[in-house]
Amino acid sequence: MLFHVLFLKASFTKDCTTGLNRKNLTRLFFRIYMKTEYEYSDCKPREECGIFGIYNHPKAANLTYLGLYNLQHRGQESSGIASSDGEHIYRYAGMGKVVDVFTEEHINNLKGNIAIGHNRYSTTGSSFLRNAQPLRAHSVLGPIVLAHNGNLVNYAMLRRALEKEGAIFQTSIDSEVIVHLMARSGLTNFLDALIYSLKAIKGAYSLLVMNYNTIYAIRDPFGFRPLVLGKLGNSFVIASETCAFDIIDAEYVREIEPGEMIEISPNGIKSYFPFASVKNSLCVFEYIYFSRPDSIIFGQSVHEMRLRMGAMLAKQSPVEADIVVPIPDSSVCAALGYARESGIPYEMGMIRSHYIGRTFIEPEQRIRDFGAKIKFNVVRSAVEGKRIVVVDDSIMRGTTMRKIIKMFRKGGAKEIHVRISAPPTRFPCFYGIDIPTRSELIASSHTIEEIQKYLRVDSLAYMTVESMLKALDVHHGKFCTACFDGNYPIEFQEADDYQKCLFDDTVACGDYY
Ligand code: SF4
Repeated sequence: MLFHVLFLKASFTKDCTTGLNRKNLTRLFFRIYMKTEYEYSDCKPREECGIFGIYNHPKAANLTYLGLYNLQHRGQESSGIASSDGEHIYRYAGMGKVVDVFTEEHINNLKGNIAIGHNRYSTTGSSFLRNAQPLRAHSVLGPIVLAHNGNLVNYAMLRRALEKEGAIFQTSIDSEVIVHLMARSGLTNFLDALIYSLKAIKGAYSLLVMNYNTIYAIRDPFGFRPLVLGKLGNSFVIASETCAFDIIDAEYVREIEPGEMIEISPNGIKSYFPFASVKNSLCVFEYIYFSRPDSIIFGQSVHEMRLRMGAMLAKQSPVEADIVVPIPDSSVCAALGYARESGIPYEMGMIRSHYIGRTFIEPEQRIRDFGAKIKFNVVRSAVEGKRIVVVDDSIMRGTTMRKIIKMFRKGGAKEIHVRISAPPTRFPCFYGIDIPTRSELIASSHTIEEIQKYLRVDSLAYMTVESMLKALDVHHGKFCTACFDGNYPIEFQEADDYQKCLFDDTVACGDYY
């Protein structure tokens, strides 16, 4: 704890302020709390955002709420919906999960038959209400409403230039530059201004842009983030993943292509490809971890892709063992694939609690690794006296995995062999996924043997980039693998331009909720 205080004091001072007055001390302790919760609550890269839109439905806001509900895994910090009845734009957003943000009254007040919604996990701009999406602005083009999943790599440069020209920003998020560029384009046609703006930005974006009577759904030319199109009777729906369609009984039509812009208006649906085509860079981590296994993204079932990765892992790194155990939930499919391919029985040797929240009950000092225990527990009867293969989809810092291994040992496992259904994560992501910095990623500074020793396991193997791509060869040559091999598909500026709270003012930074 003392270490945390010192560490956080240092980072806090460097990031956000120069002194420790009473207000800042409050923030500091809040950050300690958040850091502690973060460390124990997840050992994974953090999700990004989820977007949902619907056109031509009398219950547009209601269905957007349900769509966002099924996209909750993509962001839990804030949620918002904006709707239009053709004459007015209505918007409501709040901090927290969908069920915590909206009441029935809020939804009833979101009038109209078109709506877009957003669940946020902050990758650029800290987590506070002002940064919640959808963004809404009024301009010479009329209202511009925007929901963004992804991260822009040139936003800092664009923002500084716009500020020099007099633009006044309301948020500290990258997405706002899109709105300013549209408003200042000098163009009078909404679509032309949108294309002008999108041609100026670089990075990852799956976007929904709305005005009084039209929704535009756009995927960047590299196709980093998924975006799918569906139908519900006479209504069109768009979402980050198809699991958002299932909850409202919408039918999956197709993936929106990289570089495609879809316009849904009173004149029907049109498709444009306004950008120069580039080599696709679909985020492979969407298949490994982020997306829900019951979704179809990039044209393929996520569950199927994870089974394939697990099977390939079994071929690449076999081991003699009695049972295959997943780290729930995200590794369940890969472990199943491993078990099927290897013939080793699959066993639920670990349970994850889905009901964890914040606890204010201080554990006694002697309850070690309390945070990990809140989330995971070993099924002793399943693992006792067994040689177990523990399958997980990634290791970031390694600290939580080490605690999990300790729990398996305590549960009586005789041998523990860890198999990771992805290559070692060695590099951060600049395209919308919150992966720890290089210095925090254990695989960026340790060999596999060293990590094995640190985890105290009998063996450790990762997928190689080659075998992962072979398992996913339906998208041959179309994946981004930068967090594994450092081959970034889009060049980026100074690393300094990627601090999350770069444009947060001193008041905002630290006011997380
Ligand atoms: S760097 Fe990794 S997480 Fe980021 S887009 Fe590429 S594959 Fe996805």
